Amino acid sequence: AADIAHNPFKADFPLLESNPDLAFLDSAATAQRPACVLDAQRRFYEAKNANALRGLYRLSVDATEAIEAARSRVARFIGAAHARDIVFCRNTSEALNLVAASFGGLVLKPGDEVCLTIMEHHSNLVPWQQACRRAGATLVFLYPDENGVVTQAEMDAKIGPKTKIVAAAQVSNVLGIENPVREMGERVHAHGGYLVVDGAQSAPHLPIDVEAIGCDFFAFSAHKAFGPFGIGVLWGRDELLDAMPPFLTGGEMIEYVTEQDATWAPVPEKFEAGTQDAAGIVATAAALDYLDGIGLDVVHAREQALVAYLMARLAELPYVRVLGHPSPAHHHGVVSFVVDGIHPHDVASLLDLENVAIRAGNHCAQPLITWLGEESTCRASLALYNDQSDIDRLIAALKTTWTTFNPESQK
Ligand code: PMP
Repeated sequence: AADIAHNPFKADFPLLESNPDLAFLDSAATAQRPACVLDAQRRFYEAKNANALRGLYRLSVDATEAIEAARSRVARFIGAAHARDIVFCRNTSEALNLVAASFGGLVLKPGDEVCLTIMEHHSNLVPWQQACRRAGATLVFLYPDENGVVTQAEMDAKIGPKTKIVAAAQVSNVLGIENPVREMGERVHAHGGYLVVDGAQSAPHLPIDVEAIGCDFFAFSAHKAFGPFGIGVLWGRDELLDAMPPFLTGGEMIEYVTEQDATWAPVPEKFEAGTQDAAGIVATAAALDYLDGIGLDVVHAREQALVAYLMARLAELPYVRVLGHPSPAHHHGVVSFVVDGIHPHDVASLLDLENVAIRAGNHCAQPLITWLGEESTCRASLALYNDQSDIDRLIAALKTTWTTFNPESQK
């Protein structure tokens, strides 16, 4: 197992280096950034800054080339065959809105079904609610078993001839479980439908190969994968992207404009209206270099060791209940829990007094929290820069929180 008592990675992260007392356990919300990513962003502004695509002068061409190099880098990261099928947007939410509005608008007909898991983030739920409403289609949900597993039987029952689209998180941001997206794809494809994968929580933790998954669209956010805020990635199948209408319109995404009409630039520009965040895109490529440089196998082994230790330590506290799968192998960096009789917001606030940062709330997955019979949960999420001491601090702070609320327990 990975050596989580030692931490060779923390030194790469300036914020963690300058806050040695902080136990940062909220990487599923956004990760910290290594210096190489911050440097790449800064270097762009210092050496290459110009509006890409617009100019014919050297700096602008440099900026354009930097974006295209980053596009190829992203394609390689997720196993995409063509860089042109990578669309840059703001975040996973925007990528999924693009798919639901443009592709959903194109293919959904009255009576069709869109099938989601009940554990979808609101970003992969609300856009489909809207798309279904517009098309007269129906939303259908896959419910997991008591461990959070979507079973073959559930997929067989829900994915059928009416299913036009299955849209699912590869990894849940609440339960940390990996959904059987490849099996979902096989089923929906057998009925002539399509698979959309929300990779926001998988791309930072698992090696991604869109061809092996067999999906038609894949979305993730750079900021959860050590990259900058403001950059989302959408990959889609060539022929689908070609057939889809634009989502946002305006500059850079057109071919020809007259007073009354316009024609569209080819993919990917068709989906990239307006000025691109070239510096962010370049920094995203640097983040993927950083991740690949370490190796997702190393990342995964370390996270697994951290999760195993976290769950073992939480199990020592009789007043803490972990949600989802009992085995750490089924948690990809994410562990949600509740503390008996103490509201998750109070838990998070008291942990903050001990310099332990966790998330509390519904995690933008309200239907799942409701289905679990909770109103809110605590969530600790891990990344490779965490170590055993972060978890020890969390456990100590949870004990303090418990005795603060239950002073008689100390007697
Ligand atoms: N899907 C999942 C599974 C997520 O965890 C998140 C972020 N919490 C999102 C989508 C949305 O990502 P963003 O906020 O970057 O758009």
